[in-house]
Amino acid sequence: MTSNNLSSREPLLPGSTIGILGGGQLGRMLAVAASKLGLNTHIYCPDPESPAFDVAKYHTIAPYDDQNALKEFATSVDLVTYEFENVPTKAANLIKEQVFLAPGVNALKTSQDRLLEKKFLQELDIAISPFEPVNSPQQLLQAIKIIGTPSVLKTTRFGYDGKGQRIIKTAKGAHDAYKEFAGKQLVLEAFVEFDSEISVVIARNASGQIAAFEPSTNIHKNHILHTSTVPASIEKSTAIKAIAIATKIAECLQYQGVMAVEFFVCKADQSANNKQMLLVNEIAPRVHNSGHWTQNVCPTDQFEQHIRAICNWPLGQTERMANVVMRNLIGGEINLIPHGLSPNDHPHIYGKSHSRPGRKMGHVNTITPL
Ligand code: AMP
Repeated sequence: MTSNNLSSREPLLPGSTIGILGGGQLGRMLAVAASKLGLNTHIYCPDPESPAFDVAKYHTIAPYDDQNALKEFATSVDLVTYEFENVPTKAANLIKEQVFLAPGVNALKTSQDRLLEKKFLQELDIAISPFEPVNSPQQLLQAIKIIGTPSVLKTTRFGYDGKGQRIIKTAKGAHDAYKEFAGKQLVLEAFVEFDSEISVVIARNASGQIAAFEPSTNIHKNHILHTSTVPASIEKSTAIKAIAIATKIAECLQYQGVMAVEFFVCKADQSANNKQMLLVNEIAPRVHNSGHWTQNVCPTDQFEQHIRAICNWPLGQTERMANVVMRNLIGGEINLIPHGLSPNDHPHIYGKSHSRPGRKMGHVNTITPL
């Protein structure tokens, strides 16, 4: 361990060790990026088959509620980051007491709970889809009266890849969905008739420097990201606005690291000066699948940028040097590799030993000249 006074946010020096909570593909790609900068990584994950273990110097296999293992991990590293937002608050707090945690507990808390996140965005005057909290059948009926149908009923916590949400078309459908989510805190959101979905991946370091990547257009299949395309098919003013919103969020959270902000792009209307309208869907306080395109077309990709940001290094260039489509390889699609790869297809394979339907196994960035 290299001595380093992180409380004053001196840059973390090469030779130091970054602890990463989570051992999936994001942890793996973060570990590779760290090693390129001369930093070691220590991955903490309960799954003995974590793909990130293959590329990290150290690893710990233990559950996220094992206080002794967490303490030992935290005291063995110079800084801790995470690759997923559902890190239990207790674990995050325990780590924070031992060592610097970036992006930090505040960003985690806000993004772990859809209601807190929506209230945070409202306070910043950022447009979101109308919503109502739902904690009882009576509240659900009341919420449907206010929001109308179609609408989307979501669990406030632990939702991802379409899990924990149902489209509500009728009161009966709402009742069934409510029963399915029994006991969970819920939120009813107006269904957004969006034109497209985009995201902005943005970085901020402790010195307050900010660097955003261009927005990507994201297409989902079966609730899982299918492709991210850059340039996005949006107006230039929409791209500028999306980056301005992401910047405001990063600044208000005093964020340190990379985060993604996902938006719905709605049709231009006269009341909005014929400009496309943007609604924030959600914030992810981590590197994001919709930022994988940066790996083959930006001087600094999102993984290196996250490492630079959390270590308080100057951020790297984010300009795009080619057009790109990132396509996820889900389940058995991994068997297509390496057959049919063109020279401009750049595969990134996660090294997972078993594929199963819906599991992200890798992705391919296909690039074409500007
Ligand atoms: P989420 O888990 O909130 O990111 O939602 C996953 C996906 O469901 C989004 O990327 C959208 O495609 C869709 N979705 C979520 N909320 C809404 C909404 N209020 N209106 C329309 N589609 C939605």
